[in-house]
Amino acid sequence: MSSDPARPVIGVLALQGDVREHLAALREQGAEAVTVRRPEELAAVDGLVLPGGESTTMVKLAARFGLLEPLRAAVRGGLPAYGSCAGMILLADRILDAPPDQETVGGLDVTVRRNAFGRQVDSFESDIAFEGLPGERLHAVFIRAPWVEESGEGVDVLGRVVGGPADGRIVAVRQGNLVATSFHPELTGDRRVHAMFADIVRHHLAEQAGAETGNEKEMPS
Ligand code: GLN
Repeated sequence: MSSDPARPVIGVLALQGDVREHLAALREQGAEAVTVRRPEELAAVDGLVLPGGESTTMVKLAARFGLLEPLRAAVRGGLPAYGSCAGMILLADRILDAPPDQETVGGLDVTVRRNAFGRQVDSFESDIAFEGLPGERLHAVFIRAPWVEESGEGVDVLGRVVGGPADGRIVAVRQGNLVATSFHPELTGDRRVHAMFADIVRHHLAEQAGAETGNEKEMPS
């Protein structure tokens, strides 16, 4: 059953990667943040963060833990999910520069290129233009990051690189309840992306509660 929208339960996929930082960032948003490694844990969350790490490893571990199909079903069923870096790759319907057998969870109608900024560019920081976030440009940290090479019609482009050789490249997208960024907002003190995701989760919970009440009204007594 769904949680109190004031205190949503948000999971962080904890197979590999920077889990702790996301848990802390989510708690700062008033969420109950929990780790997710098993299907039962996935079933108990109102939203899920897929952290950065190594997408090839994460997807293999997800399959081994029996989580890949439940993750696909949850995303298909409307579970709000936010993927950062490797998490963006996991949420993408199509990936480039990946081993031919690399699977994804999918759900986002985008083509994502792994390690897109060049293999020699391990990590860099840049200010990016981000739609819909209050305040200044967002200072983004990229670590062997992907970018969105193509996005489908239903996808909102939220963020792009400004300046430099990757000027204009898409690094943040949203499609319904799914959000993905190429960069790692959990590594900076800027909590605006986590706040936006927590809002999406709360909104979804409130909608579900409304739908449940509506159904009850329609039920014959
Ligand atoms: N390059 C990694 C991958 O392809 C992603 C890097 C990251 O998440 N920081 O999975």
